[in-house]
Amino acid sequence: MSSPQRIASLSSAIAKLRVDYLLITHLPNIRYLCGFRGSAGALLVGGAGPVFFTDGRYLEQAHEEVLGARVLIGKKPPLPAAAEWLARKRGGKLGIEGDHLTVSSEARLRALVPKSWRLQPTSGVVERQRMIKDAGEAELLRQAVNLGSSLFRPMLKTIRPGALETAVAARLEYAARQAGAGGMAFDTIVAAGPRSALPHGRASVTPIPRHGFVVLDFGVILAGYCSDMTRTVAVGRPSANERAWYDGVLEAQLAGIAAVRPGVTAGEVDGASRKVLKRNKLGKYFTHSTGHGVGLEIHESPRLASGETTVLEPGMVLTIEPGVYIPGEGGVRIEDMVLVTKTGCEVLTPTTKELITIAQSE
Ligand code: ZN
Ligand code: ZN
Repeated sequence: MSSPQRIASLSSAIAKLRVDYLLITHLPNIRYLCGFRGSAGALLVGGAGPVFFTDGRYLEQAHEEVLGARVLIGKKPPLPAAAEWLARKRGGKLGIEGDHLTVSSEARLRALVPKSWRLQPTSGVVERQRMIKDAGEAELLRQAVNLGSSLFRPMLKTIRPGALETAVAARLEYAARQAGAGGMAFDTIVAAGPRSALPHGRASVTPIPRHGFVVLDFGVILAGYCSDMTRTVAVGRPSANERAWYDGVLEAQLAGIAAVRPGVTAGEVDGASRKVLKRNKLGKYFTHSTGHGVGLEIHESPRLASGETTVLEPGMVLTIEPGVYIPGEGGVRIEDMVLVTKTGCEVLTPTTKELITIAQSE
């Protein structure tokens, strides 16, 4: 879908909100709608729009990247420039992105636009549109996933007892950039031994112990789109308990994937994974939600969590990532990205989910 098409779809959403304009300030939303990749901009959609505001630093870049909106290069920052532009219009209702505009930016905006403009906070308007990926986006996500997955096998060679978690992360991140990644989608998680019980154990200066799980959760950014995958490997032979945790999580992850299809709610997918862990007496160790949408941002709507009523639709790209975390002992998480299709879903992550064991010595 092209930028003008995306803006056209947004325009009908704006009409339903009964606002005259929507001021978009969240950069990933701006990028999605008009293509701008810089770090200062505001996009006004509605009435006499769409108009994109940026400053002189982005003169060339804005003209190169922005599609479907008039580009105005201001001497002032984008927000005051947009306010000035609105001051020349008749007045009405101005929607703002309530989830993103800071309290002080809102106050500044209120002071800058004439009283004839009423500000109305909105929530998730562009994000709702971004939940459904078009064919072009699905292809970019597929490429990001493939790049991320290609780093997994080489990464295993860097995991051995005594190696620092940060060293493992560093080699992975170097390889990602070498392979063309624009960056990492989030701080790489390498959590070894008892630290694997931390769901968000960012790589630390802890050496990898001679026995236990290592949770590896990482993602790359390619052409703006994020990948996200987790695999858990064992150093040395896993104990019977560890084996049971791993098998339980894998079964829950497969049940989550099997539940993904159009028409089911995000909460039902979460329930499918959770039910398996409960049955295996691991339910109380599963302390987070089952997954999330992913695209231009690493965490997007919908959230696959208990009670979430968003109905899945073809084109959504989601992670399925149940885990168990046993305090002081260790943890397991397995995460794939899936694309919702007309009849179910396609697992995008090609990496094996068989438990990989790493030798305790060279
Ligand atoms: Zn992840
Ligand atoms: Zn994730």
